[in-house]
Amino acid sequence: MRYFLIFFLTIDFWFVNAQKLPKNLSDAILVDTHNDFLSKAVEDHVVFDTNLKGITHSDLFRMQEGGVRIQMFSIFCDEQYGLGSAFAFANQELDSLFAIVARNPKSMQIVYSYRELMDAVKKHKLACLSGVEGGHMIENNLVYLDSFYRRGVRYLTLSWNNSTSWSTSAMDETQHTFIVTPYGLNDFGKGVVKRMNQLGMMVDVSHIGEKTFWDVMATTTRPVIASHSSVYALCPVFRNLKDDQIKAIAKNGGVIQVNFFSAFLDSSYFKKMNAFVKMHQTEYDSIDAAKRSGMATGDYFSKKYKNELDNMRAPFSYLFDHIDYIVKLVGVDYVGLGSDFDGIDSAPVGLDGVEDYPKITEELLRRGYSEKDIKKILGGNFLRVYKANDNSAGLR
Ligand SMILES: [Zn+2]
Repeated sequence: MRYFLIFFLTIDFWFVNAQKLPKNLSDAILVDTHNDFLSKAVEDHVVFDTNLKGITHSDLFRMQEGGVRIQMFSIFCDEQYGLGSAFAFANQELDSLFAIVARNPKSMQIVYSYRELMDAVKKHKLACLSGVEGGHMIENNLVYLDSFYRRGVRYLTLSWNNSTSWSTSAMDETQHTFIVTPYGLNDFGKGVVKRMNQLGMMVDVSHIGEKTFWDVMATTTRPVIASHSSVYALCPVFRNLKDDQIKAIAKNGGVIQVNFFSAFLDSSYFKKMNAFVKMHQTEYDSIDAAKRSGMATGDYFSKKYKNELDNMRAPFSYLFDHIDYIVKLVGVDYVGLGSDFDGIDSAPVGLDGVEDYPKITEELLRRGYSEKDIKKILGGNFLRVYKANDNSAGLR
């Protein structure tokens, strides 16, 4: 379980490759709703606007090469940060995004409304938004939520793997590791959802427990987003979405942005990972004793045992099986891409980083999706949800 946790904790040319793809797709707006680069920027001091090929999944130039038009950057810290430290750390990550954008005003823009977002896209700038991945970062204070909104945060994941006192996580609800009773959202948690609806900040249902999920669906008046979640029926891990949840998100007009992590796509991944951990137990124990962060541990192993770990990557096709599944269950209007790049240490074969997004478009075409439907999956569905939450006349 400990190592299982370690791996969870490790846990943009502006047109989609126009040479290879049909002309009608050249105006597709490619959106990714979950990229963890900012954690690496703050913790590992990697610089986004430099060539990081072979080091990270993402950098500015490869995002341009991959045709990403809108990026939602994840703001993340784990449960070691709490009252008095989590909000400050989150702001450090936001500061790093502001610094990157300030250095690159011709190619990046932080956007605060649907109008600004579409304007940035038209100007061929990477439209940058952020999402706070974990309710603990508001430190039980709605003023902090408002502050995040003012700084361009447009979703809050109500809880990450760690529950808050007002929102239980999928991990805690399934593994009973944190006893908050009752499970779900308490009155303060419902107040958070209502305030987000008022502000125009999307409610992110990734990572939250089922009880919390159903409380959210009964409370929200706007469409929700699952910023980086895959399908439970195909890969039964605790934080993938079950069929009734997928149907409820579709009924709510929301969107499920499929996560690329091999462990969430391929049900055999953890079995293979457990065998790998067993084989390298001594090394794990010594690293554990040195109390390195989950992310640093993941990076260490992925570099040292690259070939072994590469063999465990999910097949490329699996990502599309998850997309197909959602489309067959509820239609093509409720699915998109939430890569989790730079927050995961294993992506499907062929998806080495943000430069590989055009391969996704190619595979969707190969699978028979119409150009109209591909535009929806690449970004149109997300844009619908973002617009339905947008409240540009609101707090700035
Ligand atoms: Zn996550």
